[in-house]
Amino acid sequence: MTADEASIGDARRRVLASIADAARRAGRDPAGVRLVAVTKQVPADVVRAAVTAGCEELGENRVQEAAAKIPLVAGATSGSASGAAPRWHLIGPLQSNKARRAVELFDVVEAVDSLELAARLDRLAQELRPGRPLPILLEVNVDADPAKSGFTPAGVEAALPAILSLPAVRVDGLMTVGRQVQAPEAARPTFAALRGLSQRLRAGFAGLGPELSMGMSDDFPIAVEEGATIVRVGRALFGERPAHG
Ligand SMILES: *Cc1c(COP(=O)(O)O)cnc(C)c1O
Repeated sequence: MTADEASIGDARRRVLASIADAARRAGRDPAGVRLVAVTKQVPADVVRAAVTAGCEELGENRVQEAAAKIPLVAGATSGSASGAAPRWHLIGPLQSNKARRAVELFDVVEAVDSLELAARLDRLAQELRPGRPLPILLEVNVDADPAKSGFTPAGVEAALPAILSLPAVRVDGLMTVGRQVQAPEAARPTFAALRGLSQRLRAGFAGLGPELSMGMSDDFPIAVEEGATIVRVGRALFGERPAHG
């Protein structure tokens, strides 16, 4: 085992233990929460070590960086605990001119923030992965934070019928990026609001899936207490990123 594998394996066990504690505090089954290891700015050899250490779902926020990295990581899968290929999530904003590459590279596109983007992904998925609808999540800016992208709650409700009618995308659920806050507890209202929105929308739209992607290194236990089914964790697994990225 390499030093990277050992330290990432330890960090992963700590994160999974906090997820399990938070789930139990909320009366939830810890198995209902998936950990996406966010590998942005993490070099490919370290990502390979993470896969070998058991990370089965990986997240990147830039298509260009992912295009360089994913082919280098693919070869790590034979050593992974499960033997399965890692599933790649695109967690950052997607420009329309990169959508084709994104559909080629990623298994899940998390930050879909417009009907136009969903329709484009649908056309590309029909062409590039016929018969295998592309899983997507709709990003909601629940705090109406001008610094962030995503649908408004009213906007996602208005766009849902059209998005759900697209044949080649599968809307697995909602995603949000929490506010930058000093204390993790301050993120709780954002997470609770996304869960409430999901419950309300799912009561009206049968095609909307139950996934809630919310929570990062500083606040994922709070997100799990509030119902997260996917947490996106980078620094708590890989350490601090260089400040400039
Ligand atoms: C970077 C990033 C994360 C992970 O953040 P950490 O603080 O490193 O855990 C999660 N989600 C998105 C959208 C990100 O860009």
